[in-house]
Amino acid sequence: MSSAWRLAERAPLRARNTFGVEARADMLVQVRDAAALPDLFENAMLRNGPVLVLGGGSNLLFAGDPPGVVLTLDGQDIRILEDDGEAALVRADAGVEWHAFVLWTLGHGLAGLENLALIPGTVGAAPIQNIGAYGVEVRERIEMVEAFDRASRTSTRLPADECAFAYRDSRFKREPERWIVTAVEFRLRRTPELRLGYAGIADEVARAGIQSPTASQVAEAVCRVRRSKLPDPAVLGNAGSFFKNPIVPRELAEALGREHPALPVFPGPDGASCKLSAAWLIDACGWKGHREGDAGVSERHALVLVNHGGATGAQLLDLARRIAASVRERFGVALEPEPRIIGDSW
Ligand SMILES: Cc1cc2nc3c(=O)[nH]c(=O)nc-3n(C[C@H](O)[C@H](O)[C@H](O)COP(=O)(O)OP(=O)(O)OC[C@H]3O[C@@H](n4cnc5c(N)ncnc54)[C@H](O)[C@@H]3O)c2cc1C
Repeated sequence: MSSAWRLAERAPLRARNTFGVEARADMLVQVRDAAALPDLFENAMLRNGPVLVLGGGSNLLFAGDPPGVVLTLDGQDIRILEDDGEAALVRADAGVEWHAFVLWTLGHGLAGLENLALIPGTVGAAPIQNIGAYGVEVRERIEMVEAFDRASRTSTRLPADECAFAYRDSRFKREPERWIVTAVEFRLRRTPELRLGYAGIADEVARAGIQSPTASQVAEAVCRVRRSKLPDPAVLGNAGSFFKNPIVPRELAEALGREHPALPVFPGPDGASCKLSAAWLIDACGWKGHREGDAGVSERHALVLVNHGGATGAQLLDLARRIAASVRERFGVALEPEPRIIGDSW
């Protein structure tokens, strides 16, 4: 044992995933100082076997126990690396809680992350699926990702344009056994460029009687909107949106739009494709508010699978598969899960 890391065997993971399902790690390694990673990965079990990097557990489903080692990064350092009065470069350790980091930046007069307030999880997980909300994706603010590369067993610095960021995707998500994100650097502005045009944020700001909001006031509006829409995992187990909005060929989107005029259709990543509302498709198949034992679909949001208390990950996965099958059968559209499935596959 060392002061840089701690080991626990047969460690319970129920409190470490926001679905609140039971799972155990054969071996849990809690790393306080990421500089210890090269030495730790000299150990054969870590070098050759599966390793799950676990943040806040808010974007994964334990359908079974994770194979191999579970590793957490617990570093808590946040610092300003550069500041020219216009913009600043801020570095945060992977273990910092995301929402606390957003509040820290706003408290230091730095704007850019306000639309991403109240997303659960850690700084280290933010680049994994390129977290996004209310018209902003984190890739727009990331300058550099520091990661331990298991392939070369060295620490690497990846500029944003080498991270293959896309909608809820990145090279880290595609190669989960290779990368361990240890810190992230963000370029943030002292003069905010607010983005209010998305899903009720401007309305919420106006409702509060604010004419020219500050970045902090936008973050507060985002928090109020999120609290009204999404179940709080501390009260009802969930992992946020369980499915990605499907990207389909434009012709299919247009045909579905003609048949179902209420179906929300958004522009896709290129002219040949469109993004459909997964929530609408699931709701149209009658799943919103559905419950089987303790596994269910939120009454407030058709995209959110919930654990009413004692559901297992396998039960939630089974429900998710049947939801996707019904959407495929009715609309010919394949849904993909957003959280990573552990201990089974989609
Ligand atoms: C109520 C609720 C609302 C949500 N809203 C949103 C939203 O608006 N937008 C959005 O994008 N997401 C949303 N999410 C999903 C989730 O909060 C984010 O994806 C978050 O970034 C996950 O962080 P985490 O630390 O909990 O990651 P975990 O769930 O612990 O891990 C997720 C994945 O990232 C990997 N990972 C985690 N940390 C590291 C690391 N340091 N290095 C390498 N891999 C790592 C894990 O191995 C796993 O594959 C929501 C979730 C909930 C419960």
